[in-house]
Amino acid sequence: MSIYSEKYDVIVAGGGPSGVGAAVAAARNGAKVLLIEKYGFLGGMATAAAVPAFCPYTDGEKVIIKGIGLEVLEAMKKESNYDSPIKDKKELIKRMYDWIPIDTEALKRVLDNIVLDSGTNILFHTVATDVVSEDGNIKAIVVENKEGKNEIRCKYIIDCTGDADIVVKAGGEHEYGDEEGLVQAVTLCYRISNINMERLIEYFKTSGDTGNLTKAVERARLNNEFNFKEKHVAGFSIQNDGVAGLNFGHVYEVNPLKAEDMTRAEVESRRNIPAMIDFLRKYVPGLENAVLVSSGPMVGVRETRRIIGDYRLTARDYFDRVEYEDSIARYAYPIDVHPSKTRDVIYKDENDQYVTSRYKPGESYTIPYRTLLPKGLKNIIVAGRPISADRAMHGSFRVMPACFATGEAAGTAVAICSKEGIELRDIEIKKLQEQLKKQGAYLG
Ligand SMILES: Cc1cc2nc3c(=O)[nH]c(=O)nc-3n(C[C@H](O)[C@H](O)[C@H](O)COP(=O)(O)OP(=O)(O)OC[C@H]3O[C@@H](n4cnc5c(N)ncnc54)[C@H](O)[C@@H]3O)c2cc1C
Repeated sequence: MSIYSEKYDVIVAGGGPSGVGAAVAAARNGAKVLLIEKYGFLGGMATAAAVPAFCPYTDGEKVIIKGIGLEVLEAMKKESNYDSPIKDKKELIKRMYDWIPIDTEALKRVLDNIVLDSGTNILFHTVATDVVSEDGNIKAIVVENKEGKNEIRCKYIIDCTGDADIVVKAGGEHEYGDEEGLVQAVTLCYRISNINMERLIEYFKTSGDTGNLTKAVERARLNNEFNFKEKHVAGFSIQNDGVAGLNFGHVYEVNPLKAEDMTRAEVESRRNIPAMIDFLRKYVPGLENAVLVSSGPMVGVRETRRIIGDYRLTARDYFDRVEYEDSIARYAYPIDVHPSKTRDVIYKDENDQYVTSRYKPGESYTIPYRTLLPKGLKNIIVAGRPISADRAMHGSFRVMPACFATGEAAGTAVAICSKEGIELRDIEIKKLQEQLKKQGAYLG
């Protein structure tokens, strides 16, 4: 039987961290699942945009992102040679669960295996473009690929596109960016090799500089040799012996939903990389002979739409540490909103909300189930970056560990609803929470 003539319990659109969490959870809970992904591999921004590291899985004391997200992390560490005895590595990367470097090739294989082993069917090189609805219920998703346009029937959809593409097509309300209609800058991440590890480690040990390269940038600025529009620090992550990933270089005032804007961003970022590498060679000991290996398949997108859900999580909730009864995940990453346009402010730790919003070790916030449910729509649920929240709050849960967790919650919820033949809003929350806990999720 062709994939197009099947009927699925659940179709997951998008195979990033949220899509992987959603598909695996739904399939393991007995649902017949199809995962549709635009690229030829899973991972979303981790692989498609070569983001170099996973944000913290811990609250500073203990691991709070567990379940499928943790399973992926552990499998990737095993698949790459993360545990191999690279000299001094433990000193450079102190913890095993926070800011773990991403080996993109290992991650792609790990995700293929975890998703296929769950029983999920994958359809790569396919874009979900529309829905077919009847009496307010979605009956099918419309997909486009080289074979043309097809409809695939399903009972529920999980929108994990990062952009809430499917919710918008189904008529759901959403917000976009700030009051000026701007979103966080985009970044083309890249990898370099030919690093002298001994010199680099010695530099980090003795200079007080960190993976943010703040001190190197300051020195170069004083010499008028750092002339990028860049106002943010770098994310520098050792991937392997002699290889590092960089999340370094913003392009501002880009609307990632517009192909013309993204084209400008791709070209501008690629043009900037050689000069950035010149800077690294000159100002970071150990990188004197660094060479560019590759840049991400696409410029990385931090922010686009946020759905209007049954509940809109806010920065007030973050600061008040509100304990919601319908919590389906916990997280603790600070509010991290990168600038959307060039400012004349040089990065200063004490002024940055990323620093001032930090929780004390052991603290975390709750993410309510209602933030996943698009207002007014019945059989579609959202996970990952675009769940319902204000912009500041989005700055915290937009990172990958939290996206795995909201994905796992959405997938589990849909599988329960499918089994019981009920609507997404009729699920017994306690039952969902119990099932998530059984799967290892930490709900406090
Ligand atoms: C430059 C940059 C640096 C970052 N740094 C970090 C970091 O250090 N650590 C961290 O944890 N997080 C980081 N993040 C954030 C994090 O990577 C993303 O917010 C996260 O990946 C979002 O997960 P998601 O599943 O919601 O969406 P995505 O990761 O965007 O995945 C969406 C997937 O859906 C696919 N897709 C989209 N639309 C369709 C469609 N219509 N049909 C079919 N497929 C579709 C896409 O190809 C993609 O694979 C960074 C992000 C960027 C851009």
